[in-house]
Amino acid sequence: MELRGKKVMVVGLAQTGVALARFCAQRGAQVTVTDAKPAEKLSAQVAQLAQVGVTWELGGHVLASFTSADLVVVSPGVPDLAEMKAARAAGVPVWAEIELAFRFLHPEAVLLAITGTNGKSTTTALTGALCAQSGRPSFCGGNLGNMPLIDAVDHPANVAGGLIVAEVAAFMLEHCSTFRGKVGVLTNVTEDHLDRFGTMERYAEMKGRIWDWQRADDVAIANAADEWTMRETHGISSQLLTFDSRPGASVERGAFLSADRKEIVLRIPAAWGGDARASGALVEERYPTSDLVIIGNHNLENAMCAYLSARAVGLPAEVLRRGAAAYRPLPHRMELVGELDDILFYDDSKGTNVASVAASVRGFPRPLVLIAGGVDKGGSYQPMLEALAGQCKGMVLIGKAAPIIREAAAQHGVSYPVVDASDMHDAVRRAAALAATGDAVVLSPACSSYDMFQNFEHRGRVFREAVAAVGARTR
Ligand code: ADP
Repeated sequence: MELRGKKVMVVGLAQTGVALARFCAQRGAQVTVTDAKPAEKLSAQVAQLAQVGVTWELGGHVLASFTSADLVVVSPGVPDLAEMKAARAAGVPVWAEIELAFRFLHPEAVLLAITGTNGKSTTTALTGALCAQSGRPSFCGGNLGNMPLIDAVDHPANVAGGLIVAEVAAFMLEHCSTFRGKVGVLTNVTEDHLDRFGTMERYAEMKGRIWDWQRADDVAIANAADEWTMRETHGISSQLLTFDSRPGASVERGAFLSADRKEIVLRIPAAWGGDARASGALVEERYPTSDLVIIGNHNLENAMCAYLSARAVGLPAEVLRRGAAAYRPLPHRMELVGELDDILFYDDSKGTNVASVAASVRGFPRPLVLIAGGVDKGGSYQPMLEALAGQCKGMVLIGKAAPIIREAAAQHGVSYPVVDASDMHDAVRRAAALAATGDAVVLSPACSSYDMFQNFEHRGRVFREAVAAVGARTR
């Protein structure tokens, strides 16, 4: 693919936009960068591109620049703008950042693409940790951390046999047309982002695109217990493997748990072990869950995805075991951040939707006070309220969604107190007052953060400060 002399429009100037603009300019494109935000709010990003020589269209978009471009490249999280629709109507390709990156990957580099409503980051980071143990050059990023996939192009892993692990959001798959992982994982599809996609059908279809361009020798990994995910497996061309964490479950090809839940059992093609003669035969392998420090059933699912992915691209069993043992949880995912009189404070700021909060609190080992709220995403709070039953001592609500959650809790007939807080510091004070020795205070908001914070990381940091401010010992 040749960018030299092409007019490329980069939409969205956050970290990915900066990387995209630089990437295209370095390859000789005439780059225009546009963002709805005005220049004064983007000064850091603008400064990063000072030496690059791009045209700025900030504080709004110029329709003619879209329709006269040779290519429009979209950063993650940018909505499908009217200008993008107009560009498509004018025959201009509109690509997600990952689509552009994909076209620059070495044809024999091995791409592992991971999506799903919840568990993407953990599965991606764990898969990346397994790949890193293999001794093969590896890259781990995408939506995760500070490494957009476009950064993989100039990374040492972009060679034949290199391993490239990418977390992918549904928003990105919307603007793909050839993007294809050797392995494509869909962890689950539950209600989220309905504000953006409108219906579950449309949202699930976007997630299912992770498999749409795969070929017969590629591998699809899907959650057997999740109806929306399994619907998307119909008609795919790649080899399907499933995982199922339910008690007593087993699968024909894929992963499940042993009866005592102490082992992850993989049932995989013998050919993955390098036995090329073993066409069609399956082998069973067992991995102790005690290798993993991450806790909870949902993390066993994430581990099953990561193990299957790693075996599918030829990593040996001992690499999986070493990599799993070395892996540590990511920040803001049920991270223990403080303690006060045996009240433990957990930062699960990454719990940005109802299903993730339900997964985090279900079977939680202590009674808990939940801090929730932020920007509502248009789904039902029922699964979260059900998971909290018998477990929850109180709920403290913040942000715009507070009245909606309060109403849902009332409808559900909860017996614990539900109180409002004016900000995160107030929320932590109120939650600590509702908790007793032996309880936990959990920030797991079930909402987006942008009414009060820059992002979920910022929300988690302010929580940690507020935990310190009530006199807790922080870690
Ligand atoms: P994502 O990147 O998809 O948001 P993360 O791995 O960052 O996923 O996890 C976000 C939150 O979702 C976690 O804090 C946890 O509460 C929940 N979660 C993680 N894995 C799963 C899973 N497999 N199924 C359901 N919920 C999960």
